[in-house]
Amino acid sequence: MTEKEVANFLAEHGVRPSAQRVAIYHLLHSKRHHLTADEILQALPSHLVGVTRMTVYNSLNLFVNNGIVRTVADYETARRYDANTSPHAHFKCTDCGKIFDIPLSREPSLPEIPNGFSVKEAQLYVTGKCHSCS
Ligand SMILES: [Zn+2]
Ligand SMILES: [Zn+2]
Repeated sequence: MTEKEVANFLAEHGVRPSAQRVAIYHLLHSKRHHLTADEILQALPSHLVGVTRMTVYNSLNLFVNNGIVRTVADYETARRYDANTSPHAHFKCTDCGKIFDIPLSREPSLPEIPNGFSVKEAQLYVTGKCHSCS
């Protein structure tokens, strides 16, 4: 995705594409890692002066609210963000700490949800040892 394509993509999803937001989404989308806000802040190009941790958090929250980024259900570390919104599970290696995307053919099936509850998102989160650690 080029920066121009990112700008169009953001605009299509109701996010005004400021230079900072384009850079943040571009980073998250191109790295294909599950970055924390701090990792994003450190990796941003240095010409983006004035980008603070707050800017990064605000942009990420906006992306999440607009459905183009989701957070990873990994509560052992800081919140991680994911620009891959296609159905996939996360496999976290308990040895090296890497998180792998495992494709799913459909969203994971839900337990029976009681009346009065509404579901926003369901994630499949698996821990174990990856191929290099086992
Ligand atoms: Zn591993
Ligand atoms: Zn992922």
